[in-house]
Formats: sequence, structure tokens, C-alpha cells
Amino acid sequence: MTVLRIVGGSVYDPANGVDGDARDICVRDGKIVAEVPSDAPRLDARGMVVMAGGIDIHAHVAASSVNLARMLLPEEHAADPVLAPRLEPGDVIPRSGSGGTVPSTFTTGYRYAGLGYTTVFDAAVAPISARSTHAQFDDTPIVDGGFFALLGNDEYLLRQIAAGERDRARDYVAWLLGATKAYSIKIVNAGGVELWKRNVREIKSLDDPVGAANVTPRAILETLADAGNALGLPHPVHIHCNNLGLPGNIDITLESMRAVGGRRAHFTHLQFQSYAKPWASAAKQIAEYFASHPEVSGDVGQVMFGPATTVTADGAVEYLLHMSTGRKWINVDIELETGCGIVPYTYRDTAAVAALQWVVGLELFLLSPDPWRLVLSTDHPNGGSFMSYPELIRLLMDRTYRDDHLKRINQKHLAGSALADGLSREYTLSEIAIITRAGPARLLGLKNKGHLGVGAEADVTIYARSSNAAEMFATPRYVIKGGTLVVEEGQLRRAPQGSRLHVSPGYDRAVERDLKKYFDENVSIAFENYPVEL
Ligand SMILES: [Zn+2]
Repeated sequence: MTVLRIVGGSVYDPANGVDGDARDICVRDGKIVAEVPSDAPRLDARGMVVMAGGIDIHAHVAASSVNLARMLLPEEHAADPVLAPRLEPGDVIPRSGSGGTVPSTFTTGYRYAGLGYTTVFDAAVAPISARSTHAQFDDTPIVDGGFFALLGNDEYLLRQIAAGERDRARDYVAWLLGATKAYSIKIVNAGGVELWKRNVREIKSLDDPVGAANVTPRAILETLADAGNALGLPHPVHIHCNNLGLPGNIDITLESMRAVGGRRAHFTHLQFQSYAKPWASAAKQIAEYFASHPEVSGDVGQVMFGPATTVTADGAVEYLLHMSTGRKWINVDIELETGCGIVPYTYRDTAAVAALQWVVGLELFLLSPDPWRLVLSTDHPNGGSFMSYPELIRLLMDRTYRDDHLKRINQKHLAGSALADGLSREYTLSEIAIITRAGPARLLGLKNKGHLGVGAEADVTIYARSSNAAEMFATPRYVIKGGTLVVEEGQLRRAPQGSRLHVSPGYDRAVERDLKKYFDENVSIAFENYPVEL
């Protein structure tokens, strides 16, 4: 269908200041347009809620690490087999798969679209495995995909910092993003993954040396934040701080924010970075910092009770999780670039730390001074599956439901927490639209996504109203992707291929001669073979 009029829905389009007004949305050739002919096909959305397609700013869906997680968890495949959807005759061949916390590629695309999400970023790709990521995205239908390239422990980058060659470091970043078809820069535990390869588990301060004396987490953060800004990337450097998951890590989290002070930077899954010592919530300190620093953005990384799979470049954290749970795990050193750790995990509301994590995440949302700058994530599948987003939305919108649950969880570490003291805030539909589509689009620099103004991509989700927000957001009635009706009456009917989002910043090509020498001497793949083609 190339032309469509969506008639009379309550439109929540905060980027354009539209807050539930009944109006028509017109679609032509994959874009939102001002008008369509009066005889254009109509979709009756009266009484329903209309939003732009959802945008996931931080998930793990298409990295080589995600494939390792799939291989680690055959029991998930057996427990949640997924039949091929019944697509319209003449559409693409539908594919079966498996679900669980780390669904197979096709199921990942179908399930995101089934929730009304149309764009997803994989937050942590080892550059040398970018080819795998693009292949996985090729098999993840419907959603547009992009990824952030892991650079915070990269040997070539660390060498440039050691040599004081920050301009060359910036040129390297530009080359690497273009060569791998990445979207932005990811830092995971700056310097800490490199130290973990040498059996050091914990960074004491941002000024701990990583090999050479002048290579420190602080220098890595500064260099990459500067590079992201200087290259004019649409999304700034995306930072997973040091000491994730450890009590007292609020200090190094705030110190990291101050270290990149004045530069645009995105701090991810802040819930895992907001703990006082002994165990207590430090969410208030994050909210206060955000209130006075408009250059900083973040996503929450909410923990949801139930099964999860932790997948991260931060192998040191996974070692601790493996030791404390006794569950199976994977640890990989990825050549000279990064690492990877995986441990399946279950968050139980009877467990003291998991209960605190759940509370910290909700406090970050409920104390947030600016929903445009602190957006929704569960760090899928780390804090919980993306399939739990509707339940999370209900927790944010429904205080009674939230407080009932709060009473039933382990109270050991909750003394003095803002949520335990009573937080009355309930997110509005407009605020939900901000934290799930308009905000991520703005933070990612996606000008034609996350809104329903003329010229936007025709990614539209239409929900039947319900007093139960979890029900409402779990089963959108209609989903339109790039002008194609993919979900009709709650059923997946079409599965078009999404597009790939990537950047190719300019750089001084003199860096390539030095890189070629480095590749010849150190890397398992030839310099000429490293770049990927789409
Ligand atoms: Zn993550």
C-alpha cells in the first residue's frame, strides 16, 4: 500500500507538540505527508492511540556475542519454539525460530515489530565481527538496525593515546566507523576490559594506568568523547562506565560524567551504575546531575523480575556473576579489540540486590528531570527481555500497581530509597511516547524518525486503549513500517526488510598507512579485508 489515511486516532507526537489530539495521519510512498487524495485507502483509528514506531536505543540483538549467547542456551530454544508467522500470500517467506531471552534473528524482528518497535540499535559490536552483525541484521526483518562499535579497550586506540596522538586517534575512529558501517562509538568499562585480560577485575579510579602511565580510563573517555564531537556523529559517544554492578559505583559514574564535562555524551544503563556502598540507591544523585547538565543523556537499563541473559564486553563483571551464581558462562578475549562475557541470570524479587536494582531503575525514571534525555531500556537481554517493555510501561504509568509490587519485594537494601518513601509520579502517554520513540530519535540524531510530522518516515504504531497499560502496549492493533502495514488486527502480516543506519565520517587518510603496518604486524585479518560492504 503506497497511500493511506489513518483516520481520527488520538495522536501522541511530542516532537511536534501534539498531545492526544484527534487527527488524521497521511502516508504516501513510505513517508508522512500533509494530504492524500480523498479516495485513498483509510484505516479507522478512532478511539485508538497513535504514536511513531518505537526506537530501541540500546539492546543486544545482532552482535557476535549474541550468537554466542544463543549457542550457550539451547534449553531456551526448546522451551520457546516459535512457528513461522502467517504472512500475506505473496509476501516474503516466513521463518520459524526460537524465543526465550535471546531470540533467533527472524523472531527478534517479528517480536519487535509485534510490539510496535521499528528501529533497534545493537549497543556493543566488536569491530572485527561487524560482518556477523550485518549478516544478523540482514536476517532480522522489519526493523531498521544500526550498531555502536566497541572502542574503549582497542589496542590501536590505546597506542595513540599513549603516544599523545589524539588527532590520529580521531582519524582512526572515523576510519573504523566507516569501515565497519557502524553508527557511533561505544565504550565499555574504559580500560577495564584490557586490564581484565591481565586478571585485574576492578578499576580503582579514572586515573589508574592501563599499560602505559598516561593511558587511563579518563584519557580514553576524553579522547573518544572528543572524537565523537569532532566528527559530528549523530549520536555521541555511548558509555558503559567502569565498575558496573558494584556497590559504591555511583562515585566513578559521576566522576566519568564530570570527566567528559561539557561534551555531549550518552551514559547507558544507568541503573547498573547507581549504587551507594553499602548497597543502597544512588538514583537521586544521577537525577541531580542530569538536572544541571543538559549535555548529558542516558538510558535506564531497568531490571525486570524473571529470566535474563547478561551479555557484555565487560568480562570482569561476568566472572563475578558466574562465581556468585554458579551458572554456566562464556568469556572471550576478542583479539586486540575488546572482550565478551555471558552468564544467564534470573532476577528474583525475593533477592535483596535484584530488588534494589528494580527500585533504582524505577527511581531513575520517576526522578528524571527530563524524559527527553533519559530514555527507556532494559539493556535487553541483560536487565530483561525487550518483551517486558509493556510491563515496564505499566509500572511507570500506574502507581497503585507499582506500589503493590513494591510491598512484596525484598526490603533489605531499600531503607531511605525515594521509591520506598513514596513517589507519586505517573508517566503520561505523551511521556511514554518521549522515552520510547521521540527521545531516542533525538538522542540518536534521527531527524525523520520518532515523530509523525510531514517528511517523517511512515513508522506508525496504533494501540487500542486499555486501562491496563501492559496489555495495551504488548499488542498494538496496527503497526506500519515505512508505509507498509506489517501488523493488522494484532497479527503480523508482512515482513519487509529494514534498512541499515551507519555513518562514514571524513578523516585524514594518512592514518591508513600506519594502520596497514599495524594490521600486518598484529591482526588476524588483512587490512584490505577488514572493511565490510553492504
Ligand atoms: Zn548493553
